[in-house]
Formats: sequence, C-alpha cells, structure tokens
Amino acid sequence: MDVEEFRVRGKEMVDYICTYMTTIRSRRVTPSVEPGYLRAALPSEAPEYPESWDDVMCDVENKIMPGVTHWQHPRFHAYFPSGNAYPSILGDMLSAGIGCIGFSWAASPACTELEIIMLDWLGKYFTIGLPPAFLALEEGSKGGGVIEGSASECVLVSMLAARANAIKRLKHQFPTVDEGLLLTKLIAYCSKEAHSCVEKAAMISFVKMRILQPDENGSLRGDTLKQAMEEDEEAGLVPFFVATTLGTTACCSFDNLTEIGPVVRKFPCVWLHVDAAYAGSAFLCPEHKYHLAGVEYADSFNTNPNKLMLTNFDCSLLWVTNRYLLTSALVVDPLYLQHCYDHTAIDYRHWGVPLSRRFRSLKLWFMLRSYGITGLQKYIRRHCELAKYFEQLVKKDERFEICNQVKLGLVCFRLLGGPDETPEQVDELNKKLLTNINASGKMHMVPASVRDRYVIRFCVVYQHASREDIEIAWDIITEFATELLEGPDKERDLNEERTRRHRAALAHKRSFFVRMVSDPKIYNPAINKTPPPVPTTPGSPPAAAAPATPDTPLEARAVLPATPKQSWISWPLAFFFQSVDNDNNDLPLRFRHLDTMVRLKSPGPSGRRGSSPCPSPERRAGSPSTH
Ligand SMILES: *Cc1c(COP(=O)(O)O)cnc(C)c1O
Repeated sequence: MDVEEFRVRGKEMVDYICTYMTTIRSRRVTPSVEPGYLRAALPSEAPEYPESWDDVMCDVENKIMPGVTHWQHPRFHAYFPSGNAYPSILGDMLSAGIGCIGFSWAASPACTELEIIMLDWLGKYFTIGLPPAFLALEEGSKGGGVIEGSASECVLVSMLAARANAIKRLKHQFPTVDEGLLLTKLIAYCSKEAHSCVEKAAMISFVKMRILQPDENGSLRGDTLKQAMEEDEEAGLVPFFVATTLGTTACCSFDNLTEIGPVVRKFPCVWLHVDAAYAGSAFLCPEHKYHLAGVEYADSFNTNPNKLMLTNFDCSLLWVTNRYLLTSALVVDPLYLQHCYDHTAIDYRHWGVPLSRRFRSLKLWFMLRSYGITGLQKYIRRHCELAKYFEQLVKKDERFEICNQVKLGLVCFRLLGGPDETPEQVDELNKKLLTNINASGKMHMVPASVRDRYVIRFCVVYQHASREDIEIAWDIITEFATELLEGPDKERDLNEERTRRHRAALAHKRSFFVRMVSDPKIYNPAINKTPPPVPTTPGSPPAAAAPATPDTPLEARAVLPATPKQSWISWPLAFFFQSVDNDNNDLPLRFRHLDTMVRLKSPGPSGRRGSSPCPSPERRAGSPSTH
C-alpha cells in the first residue's frame, strides 16, 4: 500500500467505523457462533500472494463481524465500560502513525515528557485528587506516574517493587541468609473481593498471599487485616504488601482505607497499593472524592481511563510515591540509579515489564483537551445517575432484590425466588434467567458471586446511554423473568415441556458467554468460595463444625481453620501441585487457587503430597486439624 492508497483507505476505514457505530443497534449484542467458527471460515494457510483490500474488507464484514461481541452496543451491560470516544481513537491512530518506541527519554523525548505531564494533570487534586507525593513535577517529590498496558501490570510491578524493597531490608538484617529463603517468609494481603490479578501477581512474584474476608458490604476492614498480619508475624512471616480495592469488580465495593492505612503503617516497610481500575475515573467528580479518604497512606495507586474515562484500551495509569523504589526493582542498568534524583531523567523502560512502549499519552492528551474535565464529569455523572435509575426500577418490582450498594455505574441484582426455594434453587433460577437473556442476543450481562450467592451484574456501559436505554434493558429482563417464573408448569402438555427443555438445553450450551468472563473469580462460586463460618471452639471435631458441601474434598472438610475471620492462603505453586495430584485422583483437580483448604492439609499418615512449601501459619497458630 502506498501513501496515496493509504489516504483513500484510511478515510474509508473511518467511514466504516462511523457506519459501524451508527448501525450497531441493528446487530445482536453477542454473536451466535460456536467455538472454532472462524477456523472453518478461513483458509488454513496465509496467502502466498497479495490480496485486494476490498476482498479483505469484505471478509471483515462477513467473517469477522459475526464473531464479534459488540462492547459499544447500547444493550451491552457486561463487565465495565470499555472507553471508546473518538478523540482517543484518533490519538491512538496518531500514535500508530508516529510509530515511535519510547522506552527512554532519548528514544522519543515527547513520548516520555507528555506521559509525565498527563499523569501529573490527572493525578492532581483538581482532577483525580491524589496527594502531591504522587506527582512527578511537584517540588521535592519522589513520586510520579506511568502508563502501563493493564491494571494487572500495575499491580504486578507494584508488588515486584514491594518485594525487592522487603528482600533488601531483610538482607540487611540477615546478611548471611539466602534471598531465596527470605522470599519464603514474605506474605501479601488482599480481600476476597480483590481482582484475580492480585493473586496472579503473587503467583508471578512467588510469594504467599493471604486472602481476607471483607465485611457484609464487601469492604475490607482494618481489624481483619490487623489480626491477620499480627498472626502471620507471630508465625515468623514477614508482611510486605497489602492490595486494597476502591470499586471492586464483582460489586463495586470499597475497602476501608482510613482503617487499613494506619494498620499498614504499624508494620515496617509494608507497601500499600490501591487498585481503583474502574472507580478511579469517578474521582474526577468532587462528590465521589470521599472514597479516596486514606489514600495518603498508599504507596501506589492505579486506575484505567480505558474503563470509565472514555479512553480506548490500553491505558492503565499507575502512580507511586517513590519512583526510585519502583525502578530499583525493575532496572537492569545499575548505573542509572546514580542519576535517580533528576526527574528529567525518567526512563520509562524501568517502570514496567516491557522495554518497548507506545505513545499512549497522546490519546489522554486528546481526550482531556477535547472534553475538558467538565465534559468527563458530565459523562461520569450521567453514567452513575442511570445506574441509580436502574436500581429504582429493580426495587419497584418485588420479584427482584438489589445485592450491592449502588455507588457508581454497577448494579447487582437477582430474582428472589419463592418462599420454599433453597438458596441453591434461587441461584439456579438466576443462572437460568441470565443464560436465557444472553442466549437471545438481545442484551448481554455477566454474573458475579456476592456474599456467596449468584447475582447478575448490570453495568451502565454504552457511552451515549439514556433513560430509554435503561428502560429497554429492564423490559427485556422482566420479560424473560416473567417467562421463566410463569412459563409452562408441570401439569402442561408434555410436548411443550420437551420443547422448553430443548430450548433451555440449547440456551445452556450457548451460555459459554456466561462461563467465559474475563475474571473467573467474580462469578464462579466454586472458585470464589467462602468456607462457612465455624461457630465452634478450637479443639472440637472440625468435621462436625463445618458443614461441607458435597464437592468439598474430604481433607478440606477436616481442616477448616477455626479463626473467626476466615481467610485463605494462596501458595505460589499450589495449583501446580493440585494438577500433579490429579493424576492419582487424590484430590479433585479444580482450579480453585483461592481455596486453600486443600493446601492447609498436613501430609496424612501416607502423606506425601498436598503439603505446602511451608506450614500454614493458621495451623501453626493452633487451629484444629484432623491429626
Ligand atoms: C478491570 C479490573 C482489573 C483488571 O484490569 P486489566 O487492565 O484488564 O488488567 C483489575 N482490578 C479491578 C478492580 C478491575 O475492575
């Protein structure tokens, strides 16, 4: 393609995108394809000779589009919004056009400098509202911000920095002890409501992680954390990292930073991270800034403008209060450290995993200048108002209940079920409702597990959503609910029952949309499992104390810890061991790396596996065991 053809095709592509956007309503939200559909439609080999652009575009419409889930569709209410405003698309286009790889200041000075300035713009009180310690250009500040590829990377690099810092401190204290051994002492913390990327970061960092039970509103409290950290310290472990969340993925709950901050400060050198991937953008509005209370205790903070700030993926912002701690964990050029107090020398290659980086700050620049802060506030406010409106609609229908505190754009709700239905039957009912809705292609939502019950997440996503869109969505939901609740009962014609079952089976088969959400933790009750509270005194037979579900492994039933605050420990290699176990069918193979009950098993009389790399502090602390 030469420049003249690019000029033409580029304009055509913009036209194609515009037509896509303006006609998107006429498409199904979710595709009705089976896995592998595209393989059957495309040749098995790459073309040997060039093909015409028109042919390629023709295949876009006929082969690619039928397999697209339309995230910008007005009836898309799954996950969180995926920002896609035109100025950000154009910013991305320019970044692709410039095509620079800005890993150091010299590799493209504007790329580095614009990023520093955009992160300072957004971090300030007037905008997101972080303390000045997070800003790079503030007088005397050691802080600063960076654009990473995803929130998961932000969490990972924060944890890596905390880990390096902790090991360095321990090495200083115990110079003759090997770093590998010191590593086994480190332990990180998060809430059960934290995003699965936190646990993934712990796996990559090869550290233990204790997953704590939040309160009934999904908020991690200071006391819970304090108790866990003290217990672990008592057991000889070294707390080094606490991940908190403002705006959790499952139900948009907020951890209590004003309680957690002072607890963390009591321990030497523990890094406090705040993950506000979704909610962070809402802090642009003064009325949401109260959620930030306690952020002055944090060492790092991340948010994704590609969620609630209309900016297209990828654009994840991470701020730290001490950029030298961050870069010293990731730098491979120690000489660099000698210049570290000069903020003009920011080389972003030391701020993350990749060396190469795109000119992503351009799209933020276009967005902030095109909308202004007031424009973004207006969008965010409407987004939140519409969620409140949806909440009202749900509350007016007595067949339903609201399952979260609606603070931003996410509403969790469910059908209540009949008076004589068990909680499991009600879960099943809601699962059916969601499956039927998703299979229809009229609307798309995903489930979550809230207080261990199956709930449906309704998120306001569409950029130009209006009250009417919310009403249409509610009509679809209630229509399916009525059909489900008042559909053919057992007395009716068998045939009708059979077709209904057939249809339900089909719908279920198609429910891979339900199964394939990005964060399995938010919806899969088997993964996101809370052991039932154990109301007994230590020493009583634990098997009797803990009503186990049929799928609880026997060993697990026996070793539930009797601590009042339930928690789990994620061991770095736990799921690897579990898969080894599967060969012998000792333990069921399940990817339940949130569920340490299995890992808390001590090696039985024949015990040769299932033991953890180091004993569980919960057991050391005298919890009952079967042995
Ligand atoms: C979406 C989300 C993430 C993951 O974001 P990625 O950018 O996809 O890694 C992490 N934490 C929270 C709270 C989220 O909502």
